[in-house]
Amino acid sequence: MSELKYCQGTRCHQHQTQDRIKGTKGNKTYQTRRRSKFYYGNGNFCSTWCQNDWFNDFGDQAINHFGRLTEPKRLTEQNAWVKDYDWRGDDSYFYFNSITKEQRPITKEQYDDDNYTLNVS
Ligand SMILES: [Zn+2]
Repeated sequence: MSELKYCQGTRCHQHQTQDRIKGTKGNKTYQTRRRSKFYYGNGNFCSTWCQNDWFNDFGDQAINHFGRLTEPKRLTEQNAWVKDYDWRGDDSYFYFNSITKEQRPITKEQYDDDNYTLNVS
């Protein structure tokens, strides 16, 4: 039994659908959706509608908090390494540079290690 959580949509309760009506007779209200699992916004929202509501209310604050881009990010030879896996072959794991197209073999442990990277910056 997984735990129920609420949709984080700031106006979820304002979207008037039958499944949002809760409460006893004479005391019914539209309420924020509660589920064991959501499929939008990293599992935080019941719908793209609610995800957009949240972003419209808090998106600017979130971007400013975590760092607004003020110049373009650049993909270069130094940071273009991506891990890949040849599912047809015999468990071959490798790094692939999407700029130079160079390929370097790595172990499965290195493949699974999220901190292991060939990227310089
Ligand atoms: Zn919602």
